[in-house]
Amino acid sequence: MPPSRTSKLSREDRRVLLSSRIQEQGFVEDMPCSNCERQNIECRSSPNSNSCAECVRRGLSSCDLVVLPSTCEYFRFLPRSRY
Ligand SMILES: [Zn+2]
Ligand SMILES: [Zn+2]
Repeated sequence: MPPSRTSKLSREDRRVLLSSRIQEQGFVEDMPCSNCERQNIECRSSPNSNSCAECVRRGLSSCDLVVLPSTCEYFRFLPRSRY
């Protein structure tokens, strides 16, 4: 074990720290982002982060988790499927 690991945090360490903070403060999303959905794992996000905890931890910039203001707003963007 290294004698001291206080000062130097690698980028990875920082990601892990941020991710665990999101895990603690965040909440489980009803609709997981596609990364979590693909892995079938819990998708947690916090209001302070655009990415979910898992995507932060893995250093993915492609978290497509969208926090929607309201469901009404969401349905407005759905294409009308009338055949
Ligand atoms: Zn996710
Ligand atoms: Zn994500």
